[in-house]
Amino acid sequence: MNTIELNNGIKMPMLGYGVFLVGSQECEYCVSEAIRLGYRLIDTAQAYYNEEGVGAAISKCGIPREELFLTTKVWISNAGEEKAARSIDESLRKLRTDYIDLLLVHQPFGDYYGTYRAMEKAYRDGKVRAIGLSNFYDARFVDLAENMEIKPAVLQLETHVFSQQARMRELIKDYGTRLMAWGPLAQGTDRIFTNETLKNIGAKYGKTSAQVALNFLTGEGIVAIPKSVHTLRMTENLDIESFELTETDREMIRKLDTGLSKVDFNDPAMAKYLLEYDKNFNPDN
Ligand code: NDP
Repeated sequence: MNTIELNNGIKMPMLGYGVFLVGSQECEYCVSEAIRLGYRLIDTAQAYYNEEGVGAAISKCGIPREELFLTTKVWISNAGEEKAARSIDESLRKLRTDYIDLLLVHQPFGDYYGTYRAMEKAYRDGKVRAIGLSNFYDARFVDLAENMEIKPAVLQLETHVFSQQARMRELIKDYGTRLMAWGPLAQGTDRIFTNETLKNIGAKYGKTSAQVALNFLTGEGIVAIPKSVHTLRMTENLDIESFELTETDREMIRKLDTGLSKVDFNDPAMAKYLLEYDKNFNPDN
């Protein structure tokens, strides 16, 4: 599996398995299956309410912990230095591990400066190997990156062939921050799996549209974490290193970029939805 080096020298797989909307019950099975197939990077979050399923799978999988790369994210309801610190310990407990490989601030809402300070401390204490951000755009990203001592190693954003994040990719270079694509298959929307450009390119290599879309991202140096609860699709999404797109293929795929994201984090209605998220969706409430 290809890897990239983060700005603190640690290595991270280019392709991983995401578990957003994978129910807590099925999560252990799905992550076990993903690891069995060869995935080594698993992306979860406190707000997915399935960290325990991930923890159960990694503790039973038989793969040495150091060969796995675990990402989780601190949710808004745990924002602030003390609460975030407690939540990191809680994530460690649920994930059944002594350290998290990559810890992200999930959303730029609430006291995310306090959250980041707690993450810096966890990093120095050896509980976390790298820290970063998710869904921070433009000035919000720059403000935090400029003000905090440890520069974000990773920025996780909605990124796919229809939203290639050219501006943000340029901006984060100054901090040595690497882009990690959430929704790398556009969450299955915009008819991505039957897109003519992707299909025609794939036909040359005997690959599917999904494989071309993922190969495009990793080839651009972007980490991708597709999610599927189906073994066949997990296998398909993992098998993207056996072919190489030409520069002409890449140019054609670059033309699919709309420059637009599906989720607008500047929308006040989205802010309210996210601020109420834990109250509405946390099964423990
Ligand atoms: P993806 O772009 O990975 O798309 C997932 C959808 O595509 C599912 O409906 C899945 O269905 C389907 N699918 C997957 N592979 C195939 C395939 N080969 N052929 C056909 N259909 C396929 O969207 P996600 O939102 O899940 O993003 C990936 C990960 O990114 C998440 O799981 C999560 O870890 C992370 N994420 C982070 C966010 C953040 O705010 N930081 C926000 C959203 C996601 P099925 O499962 O039925 O196969």
